[in-house]
Amino acid sequence: MVGAMPDDSNPQAAPLSFAAGAAVAVLLPLPLAGAYDYRVPHRLSLVEGVFVQVPLGRRRVAGVVWGAAEGGLPAARLKEVEARLEAPPLPAVSRRFVEWVAAYTLAPPGAVLKMAMSVPEALAPARSRLGYRVAEAPPGLRLTPARRRVLDVLGAGPLTAAEAAREAGVGVAVVRGLAAAGALEAAPLAEAPDEAPPDWRRPGPALSPPQRAAADALCAAVGDGFSVTLLEGVTGSGKTEVYLEAVATALAAGRQVLVLLPEIALSGQWLERFAARFGVAPHEWHSDLPPARRRRTWRAVAEGRARVVVGARSALFLPFAELGLVVVDEEHEASFKQEEGVIYHARDMAVVRGRLGGHPVVLASATPSLETVANVQAGRYRRLHLPDRHAGAALPAVTTIDLRRDRPAPRTWLSPPLLAAVAEALERGEQSLLYLNRRGYAPLTLCRACGHRLQCPNCSAWLVEHRRRRRLQCHHCGHNVAVPPACPDCGAEDSLAACGPGVERLHEEVAARFPDARCAVMASDTVSGPAAAAEMVRRMAAHEIDVLIGTQIVAKGHHFPLLTLVGVVDADLGLEGGDLRAAERTWQLLSQVAGRAGRAERPGRVLLQTFDPDHPVMRALAAGDTERFLAEEAAARRAAAMPPFGRLAALIVSGPQAAAVEGAARALARTAPAGEGVRVLGPAPAPLALLRGRHRWRLLLKAARGTNVQALLRRWLAAAAVPAGVRVQVDVDPQSFL
Ligand code: ADP
Ligand code: ZN
Repeated sequence: MVGAMPDDSNPQAAPLSFAAGAAVAVLLPLPLAGAYDYRVPHRLSLVEGVFVQVPLGRRRVAGVVWGAAEGGLPAARLKEVEARLEAPPLPAVSRRFVEWVAAYTLAPPGAVLKMAMSVPEALAPARSRLGYRVAEAPPGLRLTPARRRVLDVLGAGPLTAAEAAREAGVGVAVVRGLAAAGALEAAPLAEAPDEAPPDWRRPGPALSPPQRAAADALCAAVGDGFSVTLLEGVTGSGKTEVYLEAVATALAAGRQVLVLLPEIALSGQWLERFAARFGVAPHEWHSDLPPARRRRTWRAVAEGRARVVVGARSALFLPFAELGLVVVDEEHEASFKQEEGVIYHARDMAVVRGRLGGHPVVLASATPSLETVANVQAGRYRRLHLPDRHAGAALPAVTTIDLRRDRPAPRTWLSPPLLAAVAEALERGEQSLLYLNRRGYAPLTLCRACGHRLQCPNCSAWLVEHRRRRRLQCHHCGHNVAVPPACPDCGAEDSLAACGPGVERLHEEVAARFPDARCAVMASDTVSGPAAAAEMVRRMAAHEIDVLIGTQIVAKGHHFPLLTLVGVVDADLGLEGGDLRAAERTWQLLSQVAGRAGRAERPGRVLLQTFDPDHPVMRALAAGDTERFLAEEAAARRAAAMPPFGRLAALIVSGPQAAAVEGAARALARTAPAGEGVRVLGPAPAPLALLRGRHRWRLLLKAARGTNVQALLRRWLAAAAVPAGVRVQVDVDPQSFL
């Protein structure tokens, strides 16, 4: 949860401008302490926010004019700004956002700016690509029919050699031959024209009365300043349809819209729905985009040509000038937290962005985070609720299977009741989903002769067997080796045994049990990339698969009308380790998986295999009682003064040398802040005590809700002498405790 704002100057104030000879501060996208001062050269005048090129040592770096110089050196002694770059200035609200995120996360402002300048090539206008056009025919040119077709095609305008060849139905060599003969000359190609903007006038579906009421409330909030609304409703209740109405309203008001999704690369169905509603696809923003697309999109956002962007958390840092609405779909998702570099939570920072930009933020979820629920209860956020599934589709019946009673056969993982349910679904021609959040064949391999367990040399983690590839792999650092023929410790041959199931092993069990069923595995390593994921979703939707076995990635947003059975193979898995949010997370994830069952006319059922059917999470899932679960969780957190009722910040101390890391962690503990309501827990070796070859220790600062945690941390770290080779990362509001 986000605490008090640092300096909150009005982002709408007129920008300062600087004449030739003035000294300006330029923020560079580098992890430096602050902005550097430069002199405005005589041919230029600059305003705040413009992108410039400046010298830095022997390099040239692009940066942003941040304001008046601060260093106090006379302008004459400063280096000159070299050039102004041809991109629209970074809007004031984006600059304030960079400062805000830096102050909140304790990251250097330049490191945050780097996220806003993630496509350096976009700071120059598009270089026009060259193609061919028809030149004056050289004397004696031999004209074959193929050559004639190429000349005809190019008569209509310049094309690349490949395009001309394709259109003329000839080989590229024909085009190159004409060019070599002097019959063609180089010519700039036109930039691909923009797609038409989304058409907000197109009507959406007829909404049910509760959907209509929620949509009206959201639409009324658009253009009415800053607000945060939780849009809550079970999966399938129409949250997406409802917030698309608010998107239409923002578009009609001439504002840009950002929709954040947790797994954008896997959300092909979302993109299709958007296109069906507004006639064109939205702009996408995520790490899988090819560089040319990223460049075009960054530019289109900055120039206001991109009206709707759907993206992963980093889309928050795009240079929107006219942003009028942000939607965070599946707001409870842990993947909105960035855990490396600048450590921030995109849901919380989206709220900050809304406050700075003076526009509404919509948080949508079937299983809202406790943070958001607490904000609703405190009156800071509004709540809109959609009570039912659309068109009367019933919620699936959830029952637990007690694994202490209904035991699977030795070395199998599916209990008799779950097997019977799969068989029934197959008989009815319906689909099943077996959910197990474990990639690979087996999570642990050990030697039957000596008990040795195969471990990653770089991480505190077991190696996971991937049988199809005959490899053992570390899921933290990617280290992987062939499965050895003998135990690396005692040398016994053929002694290595797989322990426990992963999705590949489950696949083996299902295939043996139901030899006629068509079954497939969907995990992030078997289905890599958006195209493969889309193909798997298509096969499932087309009923080319009877039993789908999947990890987390199958839980997301897909809609399969024939899927009526969801079996959760190990419902207790997420509760192991027991961190602060283990119960909340397990409840959210399993609710989402359960929500895949029975989304259309056919009723669905969900079976949870568990050793602890009385656990509050299992009881909440079986009873479908969201309110009660959240109330009980909140009561427990309040009693322990844990988030959202108290504040946490973690320090992660890491480095290649164990002794140096431990020493630094202990030194930090000795100077730890103390005071009313402030405690520091640790230092202790992190649960992942070794990660990618770095040793890790943790300290956890716990404070009362109103505490200015950043001020405490800043003072603490400023006084710390961290030895070379040791890194201290700050994680404000930690989600992961590994
Ligand atoms: P949620 O986002 O809450 O999971 P969706 O918006 O995805 O729910 O709706 C679930 C399904 O029901 C989707 O296929 C959606 O198109 C359909 N749906 C929801 N509301 C309506 C409506 N008013 N008219 C037609 N179809 C609807
Ligand atoms: Zn590893």
